[in-house]
Amino acid sequence: MHGGPPAGVWAAPGRVNLIGEHTDTSEGLVLPLALPHTTLAAASARGDGLLRLDSADAPGGVVELRVADLAPGAVAGWAAYPAGVLWAMRAAGLPVGGASLHFTSVVPTGAGLSSSAALEVATASALNDLYGLGLAAERIAGLAQRAENDFVGVPCGIMDQMASACCTAGHALYLDTRSLAHRHVPLDLAAHGLRLLVIDTRVTHALGDGAYANRRAACERAARELGVPTLRDVPYAALESALTTLAALADGPALCRRVRHVVTENHRVDEVIALLDAGAVRAIGPLLTAGHASLRDDFEVSCPELDLAVTTANASGALGARMTGGGFGGSAISLVPEAAADAITTAVTEAFAAAAHLPPRIFSATPAPGAHRLPIDPATPA
Ligand code: ADP
Ligand code: MG
Repeated sequence: MHGGPPAGVWAAPGRVNLIGEHTDTSEGLVLPLALPHTTLAAASARGDGLLRLDSADAPGGVVELRVADLAPGAVAGWAAYPAGVLWAMRAAGLPVGGASLHFTSVVPTGAGLSSSAALEVATASALNDLYGLGLAAERIAGLAQRAENDFVGVPCGIMDQMASACCTAGHALYLDTRSLAHRHVPLDLAAHGLRLLVIDTRVTHALGDGAYANRRAACERAARELGVPTLRDVPYAALESALTTLAALADGPALCRRVRHVVTENHRVDEVIALLDAGAVRAIGPLLTAGHASLRDDFEVSCPELDLAVTTANASGALGARMTGGGFGGSAISLVPEAAADAITTAVTEAFAAAAHLPPRIFSATPAPGAHRLPIDPATPA
């Protein structure tokens, strides 16, 4: 850090999504939990109108930008994420100026664990406190999403930013991405003799970017054809009649698959919630696996590495498994009995080696807190 110690240090976590994948772009239901892995921002306000950024995890050293010049398209590379947050805040009329932000992170990047939201939310949390904005966590999430959508140019939904900003330790976040109404659902896996394994395949298939925008466009078009604002408005009970309507269109079969995923996935979120509320944590396993099949066959966003992780975990004693995040690589999750966790880890590792894939990174996740300021004063030596 240049110019003395930072004013403070802020942490924002990555996340995995338990269920509710590719539903947030249709204003649907999601159930993410924050990872213990965080991005840290050591930050200070500046009075000279500059935004000074550097990251221990990105090459290229310090990036210095003039706050007044920030505009979509003006910043390339990783710095667009934090710069976009400052831009989004100013575009919303919030009184923020310059800042120095130094980042370091243990959230794997590009692994479907939402390092981008962690970076944005760490930035927004720091600026919120440094400039005394008093923003609620939901507002921070919204500004972070705006940064990613309109400044970085990634048409993501609100799930990742809400998870990073709003989660609490020991809970998953049951979130309605339309109203942003949410409930913290207790998820004490150890009490049930369970673990949630995260399997980072360490691959990202280039196909992902275009396909993401293409899926979103297909969902929007299907909603228009069905005469509803978004696919969120197609109830599970109305799925068959919606599919009949869409099947008549020229690209009907593909649209039907996309719609079937979104509608059944929203339903699975509700089914998982009902089971968790009833304390039947083990029983959610098959719903996770059904969610994976839907993402693989209907939404078509999986890949051989994710499929192998899921089938191997399930064949080795997991209660269920699914890809998590956008797909085309990244990570899978698997709900496993504690006693089987090591054997499943070994089986997945061996299956990847046998298929000549990169060795996966496998760890267990416990639900961690959302963004917060660390209770330290960096100016005071410990
Ligand atoms: P994910 O969010 O799943 O990790 P994304 O492609 O959405 O994947 O975001 C990854 C990008 O976010 C990186 O390529 C980089 O530009 C940026 N990023 C995330 N974390 C950091 C960090 N700690 N330092 C610098 N850039 C980061
Ligand atoms: Mg991301």
